[in-house]
Amino acid sequence: MTKVVRRPDLTFWEKIYFVEIFKGLATTMGHAKNSLLHADHFKVINYPDVQPNLPRDYRARHRLMKRPDGSPRCVACFMCSTACPARCINIVAEESPDHHIEKRPASFEIDLLLCVFCGFCVEACPCDAIRMDTRQAVLAGDNRRDFVIDKTKLMDWEPKDYPLEDAQSQKAPGGTLHAQALEEFKSGSYH
Ligand code: SF4
Ligand code: SF4
Repeated sequence: MTKVVRRPDLTFWEKIYFVEIFKGLATTMGHAKNSLLHADHFKVINYPDVQPNLPRDYRARHRLMKRPDGSPRCVACFMCSTACPARCINIVAEESPDHHIEKRPASFEIDLLLCVFCGFCVEACPCDAIRMDTRQAVLAGDNRRDFVIDKTKLMDWEPKDYPLEDAQSQKAPGGTLHAQALEEFKSGSYH
């Protein structure tokens, strides 16, 4: 059924616009006055020298999680690249030498210029192998290749940069839970 939306009936003063223009200007000047007189109310940081303190769940640049031996947790199942609406994840799989793990990524690349930071890849991953909690939201480069991050860059993170209660991060080399996780990993009881 067609719905007819009636235009509002304008008064004479609204039709000549001048009064509305000055009303708009008055609102703008009111905001400008508040900004000038109460500048201390506004939080300002010296960006880009000081980076914003983003929350951990902000969808920023990706990272690949690590096993206790430093290898990627990724099992090259392609679920992230299948879920990716931007088709910006390129994975080449290879056979894993560990007989508990069928495959691993020989290469893993994400084109951040195509990525829409939707987080679908993180949601799709069945083994918590990819996260977007790096808080690196400001990405700069002087050529397109700089924005294609490979497996090495994706795994270039330190457990000390992540909270102590983040067990999965702390089980990676350098983490507080690493020694124990490594023993479990060697004995085959690690999950
Ligand atoms: S955040 Fe979205 S667009 Fe970016 S790689 Fe993941 S699924 Fe693709
Ligand atoms: S969904 Fe997870 S395990 Fe599968 S390929 Fe992507 S990152 Fe690797």
